[in-house]
Amino acid sequence: MIVKLKKNSTKNKIKKLKTHIKSKGFEIHDSIGDSVHIFGVIGDTASFDIRNLYAFDCVEKVIRVQEPYKKVNRKFNQEDTIIDVNGVKIGGDNLTIMAGPCSVESEEQLDIIAKYVKKSGAKILRGGAFKPRTSPYSFQGMGEEGLILLHKVGQKYNLPIVSEIMDKDHIELFKKYVDIFQVGARNMQNFALLKELGKTNKPVLLKRGFSNTIEEWFMSAEYIMSEGNKNVILCERGIRTFEPLTRNTLDISTIPIVKKMSHLPVIIDPSHAAGVWDLVESLSMGSIAAGADGLIIEVHHKPEEAFSDGAQSLKPKKFDSLVKNVKTIATAVNKKF
Ligand code: PEP
Ligand code: MN
Repeated sequence: MIVKLKKNSTKNKIKKLKTHIKSKGFEIHDSIGDSVHIFGVIGDTASFDIRNLYAFDCVEKVIRVQEPYKKVNRKFNQEDTIIDVNGVKIGGDNLTIMAGPCSVESEEQLDIIAKYVKKSGAKILRGGAFKPRTSPYSFQGMGEEGLILLHKVGQKYNLPIVSEIMDKDHIELFKKYVDIFQVGARNMQNFALLKELGKTNKPVLLKRGFSNTIEEWFMSAEYIMSEGNKNVILCERGIRTFEPLTRNTLDISTIPIVKKMSHLPVIIDPSHAAGVWDLVESLSMGSIAAGADGLIIEVHHKPEEAFSDGAQSLKPKKFDSLVKNVKTIATAVNKKF
């Protein structure tokens, strides 16, 4: 990190600051110019709260030059991470499509949708059993019964399952039925949950919070990885902006940024970004062209009757043509289906 000192700081104040920094185990390289005095502070500052230095009167500016995340960082792991979910690969040159309803509603509903998405080429079945609804009066999900159905239908169609977990006390329950834990946008900074998921070895699909920076998202992934679980899949699902014509704004720039800064796979959720079904295909194609490792898409055979997110759910036929078009783009960017 670099520390810039205020002009005319007294020697005594500078000495106090230096003693403090050295006491934390860092080395200091002084650089004194005509008008500025800066320190280069050498050492591992990942666990050091650099903002604390502003408590010293002589400090004008502190700049971090090293990223605070390590396990997520491509600098410390050059190779792309490839996650294997019962033989389905996510990351590297693989393109993986996950699809299914927003919420599990019944065995019949899930079975119909699973059959369609499997036929079209989805490799993983999604479905919410514990739903993070904005209103406490909205459908909250089928709970364990929903997980049991996911497991049953997943087995029938040979599709691994991804489902959202909201509470660390549900981890043991989810372990029985689910192949990938989904952490939703609203829980991206539920650090107690992230730490406990880090103690398991099941993959975690970590959605970006709708008001979180990319660095905060990486730090949440770091929470999981620092506990030992290396199987983290990042998922961009749109962020809040001032634009009302979409539910969220898909931040497509996350894709090349994740690829540059991290070795983890990145999946795009165009459904929650768009909020309306007729934008989903364009966002999907753009995302794959930009280098995403896959998609997670909401599909419903009767979207007008869906218990949640019907507006953004694709009918099976539309999903089928989306997959075909995405395949064309995938070939152009050297991704395997
Ligand atoms: C979902 O996947 O159904 C969901 C609630 O997603 P998000 O956390 O992105 O809102
Ligand atoms: Mn949804």
